[in-house]
Amino acid sequence: MNTLDKNSIHSLKAWLLAREAEMLAEIESGQKAVDATTSADIREVNDLEDQASKRERTTVQDAEVQRDSNELADVRAALARLTDGSYGTCIDCGQPIELQRLVAMPAAARCIACQTQFEAHAIPPSLTIRS
Ligand SMILES: [Zn+2]
Repeated sequence: MNTLDKNSIHSLKAWLLAREAEMLAEIESGQKAVDATTSADIREVNDLEDQASKRERTTVQDAEVQRDSNELADVRAALARLTDGSYGTCIDCGQPIELQRLVAMPAAARCIACQTQFEAHAIPPSLTIRS
């Protein structure tokens, strides 16, 4: 019922573990950048225009950290599904996810049909970043 063979699972797992490490490093450096910008703001309280642009930059960095955190959560969820044996099965409809899709996006939790439906109901990320 599943098109995933041992070799595919092995390489997908290796990719997910590498991606997890990469996301952790990016989140850490992203948070450092946010901290650095915030303390620079505290030191330079006189230039209001500069303040505004720094705040904007902080928001962008926050959004990037947020996006990395989301991807990290997806990657970890995929690793958990690999452990419990549900990996490669759509979390919505329970049908096997196309192998081609998993190779392109190893953290995919849904088949293409369910993902399309899910995204249609989700708020586009660009709307939550801009206020
Ligand atoms: Zn599905």
